[in-house]
Amino acid sequence: MIIATTIAEVRAQVAEWKRQGLTVGLVPTMGYLHEGHASLIDKAVSMCDKVVASVFVNPTQFGPGEDLETYPRDFKRDCALLTEHGCDMVFHPEVSEMYYEDAATFVEILSDMPKQLCGKTRPIHFRGVCTVVSKLFNIVTPDKAFFGQKDAQQLAIIRRMVRDMAYGIEIVGCPIVREADGLAKSSRNTYLSEEERKAALILSQSIKLAEQLLADGERDADKIVEAMTKKIETEPLAKIDYVSAVDGVTMATVHDVQTPTLFAIAVYIGKTRLIDNTIFE
Ligand code: AMP
Repeated sequence: MIIATTIAEVRAQVAEWKRQGLTVGLVPTMGYLHEGHASLIDKAVSMCDKVVASVFVNPTQFGPGEDLETYPRDFKRDCALLTEHGCDMVFHPEVSEMYYEDAATFVEILSDMPKQLCGKTRPIHFRGVCTVVSKLFNIVTPDKAFFGQKDAQQLAIIRRMVRDMAYGIEIVGCPIVREADGLAKSSRNTYLSEEERKAALILSQSIKLAEQLLADGERDADKIVEAMTKKIETEPLAKIDYVSAVDGVTMATVHDVQTPTLFAIAVYIGKTRLIDNTIFE
């Protein structure tokens, strides 16, 4: 696997692949990779001739007081996982390679979409995500880019950005990968103590409850949100950030289940903020 740290190296290699008529897939990540990320690489390998992963903890998507400094990093281990899954190149830039000190250009969706769900407590988060993903698209110029349904709002926002800005890139959404007991895999799970790890199961249990109610024919979104909320409140270590039912495309609140409806939650387990969701299609 090629390890690239500069934009110029990535551009030269991708240009060479394109000269050979090969298709290129991009998997953007913040590293500390797990099987959720690996599933995106596997999907990209199955759909593209060459696969580029980026490993970059993007400072512009972290707000003050968030975990930018403590975000887990292990680039050596990331490279082993990427190599094992058939990734062709990893782009691992320094912050100074991605952002000029006086960088003043951002990509931002100005509808309510990035203000819902995670945007309520993380107001600059999606501006940072759109800016860095847009920049990665310009650097790698992939044919396809792969994102996890785990970050459902991010996926919807990227789809909107690609549509609005006419990026000629196909966005491929990939299902949530979970631990054997149901907890959605996340780099942030590493923050959890043994006791918190057990308590964190309340997230996937409340998502399962929503899926069960939907399977039983419940179509009142407010009732489902209420049942999920009550379930989470049974866990003393859990503190709810939000439990919401929203339109799966626009992220606007819904009261009746339509297709697609996204049931999304963010819950603090101790100091760690975890997210999970299910989409009804
Ligand atoms: P991150 O490194 O957390 O920024 O995630 C990079 C990509 O991996 C994003 O598209 C995430 O949605 C995706 N991802 C993270 N965790 C999972 C998971 N458990 N299942 C599927 N995709 C995931």
